[in-house]
Amino acid sequence: MKESSWSVCKHCLGRGKVSRKLSKRQRQQFKEACLKYENEPAKGGAPERPKASVQTCEKCHGAGIIPHQKPPEGQENHFPRIAIVGMGMAGVALAVACLHRGIPFAIFERDKDAAERAQGYGLTLQQAGRAIKSFGIVKLNQGVISTRHLVHTPAGEVIGEWGARKWVEGQLSVDPKRSNIHIARQSLRKQLLAQLGDHPAIYWGHQLVSYQQEGAKGLKLTCLVAGEERQFEADLLVGADGIRSAVRTLLLGDQTHELRYLGCIVILGICPLAKLPETPLLDGTTVFQTANGVERIYVMPYDAETIMWQLSFPMLEEAAKSLSSQGPKALKAEALSRINWHYPIPEILQATEEKFISGYPVYDREALQGALSEKAQPVTLIGDAAHPMSPFKGQGANQALLDALALAQAIYTKYQYTPWQGADLRGELLDVVEQEMILRTDVKVKESAEAARVLHSADVFLGGDQPRRASALKACVHPNGKCADP
Ligand SMILES: Cc1cc2nc3c(=O)[nH]c(=O)nc-3n(C[C@H](O)[C@H](O)[C@H](O)COP(=O)(O)OP(=O)(O)OC[C@H]3O[C@@H](n4cnc5c(N)ncnc54)[C@H](O)[C@@H]3O)c2cc1C
Repeated sequence: MKESSWSVCKHCLGRGKVSRKLSKRQRQQFKEACLKYENEPAKGGAPERPKASVQTCEKCHGAGIIPHQKPPEGQENHFPRIAIVGMGMAGVALAVACLHRGIPFAIFERDKDAAERAQGYGLTLQQAGRAIKSFGIVKLNQGVISTRHLVHTPAGEVIGEWGARKWVEGQLSVDPKRSNIHIARQSLRKQLLAQLGDHPAIYWGHQLVSYQQEGAKGLKLTCLVAGEERQFEADLLVGADGIRSAVRTLLLGDQTHELRYLGCIVILGICPLAKLPETPLLDGTTVFQTANGVERIYVMPYDAETIMWQLSFPMLEEAAKSLSSQGPKALKAEALSRINWHYPIPEILQATEEKFISGYPVYDREALQGALSEKAQPVTLIGDAAHPMSPFKGQGANQALLDALALAQAIYTKYQYTPWQGADLRGELLDVVEQEMILRTDVKVKESAEAARVLHSADVFLGGDQPRRASALKACVHPNGKCADP
């Protein structure tokens, strides 16, 4: 069986885990407690059945899917028709997870094709590195595992070091499941898109401009296609259309939780190792960062032959927008004028071609809380559309992938045996899924904003062989366990 098509694992219903049976002793104790309660009812009410522990599903090894000749057909009689807007990480991942589960979907992207814009930067997969098998990706092509992380002062003095190579010299065997994987965003997106194959409902060049709720008929979507309007029907609309989400604006307006500027800009560059000097810092498996309390540069593998650097520093919002709009030449000049630090940082900046340089002001948003629920519509948001965050903890794409999986799993579990027709999608499905998403991501948004502060302040020098934000938190813990300056 080729592992190119997948179908949901019926043994665990796509959850990747199953509940263990209660042990004989647990059952016996529960029975005794019930008998006792029957004879002399206690004040606290009837005894609660003990919860069974969960274990990894042995049939799919935790992936929730199993190899199959071809993906299942979309089952419109069982599941709502999903319209996904945006083919970034969140949207494509949701389409893949729906495909595996036989949930009918259509996906719309305003770009004409996958290559229309250079979507160029590298991602570090953390939690999502483990979840990736749930999208049918057995091995990440071009993923690189780093084994050494260093923090320097501008003079090159090492003030922090962690990673497997700190303890073991030489050849290391590293478990990819337990490691962070660096991968170009485009490579990961390509692998996810490959899962969709030639699915008939992939609409490139379709920009969502509006939607209406048409009573029992569901939703009517209007897309702009080469200047013409086209209409589509759906039962549930998912905005996976990024930080400036059109679905979000159509649903909530511009005023709800406006974008929050985090006071800094990032300039990114991608450079082949072949153009750089040979040094242990550029051995293809080392991540290093250097900071002076204002500026900070972070250098990581992009793929086996290339590195990505990310320089960030505080700037007023208008100045950051203006610098970003001036383009690569101005961004490179700004980077070179700001840091003339230890070897090989100036060499990296010099060697990076302008066409591989970009820069953005950094924004996030306050958590949605009940905002989607209040609108009482079968419309939801995932990924950056729901919870944009600063890139300094590398969590945006990780959370986007987890959002997609959680939503597809919830739709499947809810309607696999009880077809959805007439169901309250908002109340019985979306409210529950969004609550879990907000709980999981709100902390990441806050930690990412906190990292933006720490990395551009004197706190970055707080010692410790661990990421800087963790060091800063450790150093400012009060007796009551709270950070003095969160
Ligand atoms: C410099 C940088 C470094 C980062 N590093 C990491 C990292 O190491 N780890 C990590 O986990 N995250 C990282 N992130 C964050 C991560 O890239 C994002 O959180 C993630 O890509 C968001 O995915 P998304 O699908 O929600 O949105 P996007 O990737 O923005 O996709 C949205 C898509 O929707 C389309 N669209 C928009 N409007 C419409 C419309 N009206 N109709 C149709 N289509 C539309 C867009 O064209 C786009 O293709 C980084 C981000 C940056 C900027």
